Amino acid sequence: MARRVVVIGAGVGGLTAAALLAKWGHAVTVLEAHVYPGGCAGTFYHRKYRFDAGATLAGGFGPGGPHSVVGELLGIEWPVHPVDPAWVVHLPDGRAVTQWADPERWREERAAHFPGTEPFWRTQERLADASWKVSSRPFPWPPESMGDALRLGSAVTVGELGILPYLSRSLGSLTSSRDPMFRAFLDSQLLISAQATSDEASALYGSAAIDLPRRGVNHVRGGIGQLAETLAQAVRANGGEVLQRHEVSAIALRDGRAHAVTTTKGQRFECDLLLANVTPWALRALLGDAAPARLVRDVDHALAPTGGAFMVYLGIHAAKFAARFPGAATHHQVVVDAGRPLGETNSVFFSLASADDTGRAPPGELPATMSTHTATAPWWHLHKTDREGYEARKEQYAEAMLDAISRALPGLRECITFRITGTPVSFQRFTRRPHGMVGGFPQTSIWRARGPRTGVANVHLVGDSVFPGQSTAGVTLSGLRVARQVHESG
Ligand SMILES: Cc1cc2nc3c(=O)[nH]c(=O)nc-3n(C[C@H](O)[C@H](O)[C@H](O)COP(=O)(O)OP(=O)(O)OC[C@H]3O[C@@H](n4cnc5c(N)ncnc54)[C@H](O)[C@@H]3O)c2cc1C
Repeated sequence: MARRVVVIGAGVGGLTAAALLAKWGHAVTVLEAHVYPGGCAGTFYHRKYRFDAGATLAGGFGPGGPHSVVGELLGIEWPVHPVDPAWVVHLPDGRAVTQWADPERWREERAAHFPGTEPFWRTQERLADASWKVSSRPFPWPPESMGDALRLGSAVTVGELGILPYLSRSLGSLTSSRDPMFRAFLDSQLLISAQATSDEASALYGSAAIDLPRRGVNHVRGGIGQLAETLAQAVRANGGEVLQRHEVSAIALRDGRAHAVTTTKGQRFECDLLLANVTPWALRALLGDAAPARLVRDVDHALAPTGGAFMVYLGIHAAKFAARFPGAATHHQVVVDAGRPLGETNSVFFSLASADDTGRAPPGELPATMSTHTATAPWWHLHKTDREGYEARKEQYAEAMLDAISRALPGLRECITFRITGTPVSFQRFTRRPHGMVGGFPQTSIWRARGPRTGVANVHLVGDSVFPGQSTAGVTLSGLRVARQVHESG
């Protein structure tokens, strides 16, 4: 039965669900607060530059990968091309580990840098292969109904039962290596893919997450926001609407079900089903006094706040960069000090747009970004109490990050033509994520994973706050799950 579906937010997760439901005959309206879609995986315009707001590389386009599955269901072409190497990890002792997609080159690379760790890599690859295979089938984790439990039962084949003993282990427990650089390598990879370090990250999730380069990562032509633009076009092509500058301010319930949402401009949209591409904190605020007790308890007491990101957006003189770093990879991660927690400029990720992706910067330039994990609270405190201190901290972080990346790309500073920064305050403003918390929950134990259920029967969460968490591929899986669930239940 065709239903009126309202989706709050045009992030990749929300748009994936919206496009599929529109394709399957439902009347879909996506309400997006901002002037472009994509959220954390959006691309914004600033003074002739088109910068990726957060995400820069996308996985999940290989056979059976989440974006490929959705592309086939929607009959769309994705504007992507593979990047190999995916990125280079620069460790504090000077080792530069190239993350090749080519399996043979990657085997040689890891053997050269981390001798004696081959048994770890073999287990990791076996677990990753099984995890990626299982998640490419309908895999409604955590199960929220009898139907989910039945689907889960058929999602794992007899050949994959070997993964069961690893369900409660951490990725770090798979290795006895004492090489601190090996740990720093694993931790830095997991921090950007699972929001957790090797001692915390689940072995199954962590194995799949650090397998991303081997699975293949992609540049998106025109900027990562083109993924969301492609999905928005698919929504419209299938009769749905994507309305930008429409910020939802409240959800109205009747008899325990959502029946309408209102926007900050006073418009009202009625619905039979509501998908919320927002965090639990944002959903609780939208529901107000009608928020279910469990959601209130989670948000007010149980859920630890998640982290934020500090960004530097750079204009790069393309010819100078090419002359100084001929043949250099476009993506680099630098770990400064293995003895300190990663984040707060101690681990920095640099991404440069592909040289043939013209039109994303003034002539002769390319856009680039640097990002680091950061706690959100100090930024908000300074923003409210000490504007000079806030500005000074931005400068201090940007300089420390440039120092870090200059270890990998000495002389990068001379190639920079332009720079602006973004803090958790900016992320809240541009993605409406409370406090600028990004990246979803750390993927520690799969037993603690959160599903789309909200406590309101016809309201489902979609995006990186639900399993399997962050990344465009991860939120695509959540969108796919919710779309199937909603479609099949009606
Ligand atoms: C710095 C950084 C780097 C990253 N790097 C990568 C990477 O390289 N590769 C990768 O795959 N992933 C990466 N990620 C993760 C990835 O970007 C996210 O996990 C993913 O994009 C989140 O998608 P989402 O569907 O949860 O929605 P979000 O991105 O959170 O988007 C939600 C949308 O909803 C809108 N919205 C919110 N509230 C309302 C409201 N009340 N009314 C209307 N609209 C509303 C917002 O404006 C936004 O457009 C990165 C993230 C960050 C922050």
